[in-house]
Amino acid sequence: MSGSEAADAKKLVRSASGLRMVPELRAARSPFGLDEPPWVPDKECPRCMQCDTKFDFITRKHHCRRCGKCFCDKCCSKKVPLPRMCFVDPVRQCAECALISQKETEFYDKQLKVLMNGASFFVTLGTSDKSELMVCRLSNNQRYLVLDGNSHYEIEIVQISTVQILTEGFTPGEKDTHTYTSLLESQHITEGGNTRAIGMILQYKVPGSEELTQMKFTASEDYSSNKKLSASWLAAMHKATKLLYESRDQ
Ligand SMILES: [Zn+2]
Ligand SMILES: [Zn+2]
Repeated sequence: MSGSEAADAKKLVRSASGLRMVPELRAARSPFGLDEPPWVPDKECPRCMQCDTKFDFITRKHHCRRCGKCFCDKCCSKKVPLPRMCFVDPVRQCAECALISQKETEFYDKQLKVLMNGASFFVTLGTSDKSELMVCRLSNNQRYLVLDGNSHYEIEIVQISTVQILTEGFTPGEKDTHTYTSLLESQHITEGGNTRAIGMILQYKVPGSEELTQMKFTASEDYSSNKKLSASWLAAMHKATKLLYESRDQ
């Protein structure tokens, strides 16, 4: 049976930070997941790490669940969902972390669904000059890109080494100016911006091979009604890749 749609068993665990629902096998965890940070030990922080207020019996210390640092109640009062660490309920976070988590909530609420619903692309493998119309989507367990057409591919997300989003300008006359946008610099791909994502180049490792395989995705010109869907899918993929890069830095 293929690994992409396996229903990964989950278990409820309680950590100092709260209740979490995690996959039983570590290998089955989502590539978007983050590890819980170690908490800064109590004896190492006599003062709030944000406002420098001294802790005592009245001013109690709290740990931010995202960064593990120590804060007073005022500086660490927000409870925000943190799906990347699998918390069941919103958890206490410092102002800086709360902001990041709130942005990620949007990814979980919107873009992740777009990715799982899928979109159609012309897919070209390697240096081949043939392309195939395929539906591309993220698997339910978030671990694979699944491509379906006459052929079938499953690309494990953790095996993807680079993602390039191809864009075109909206400005009349510049329609044919394609720019290759490297992932980390590209902040301007949004659904409402003045560039639109029209394709993507992936490089990934096939298990058992040392070489990178390249796959190119092009939004179909012939299916105009799907073009917007493909652009949204690519914008969501762009956001997903940024999250992945961050979790690799850990
Ligand atoms: Zn404080
Ligand atoms: Zn924090």
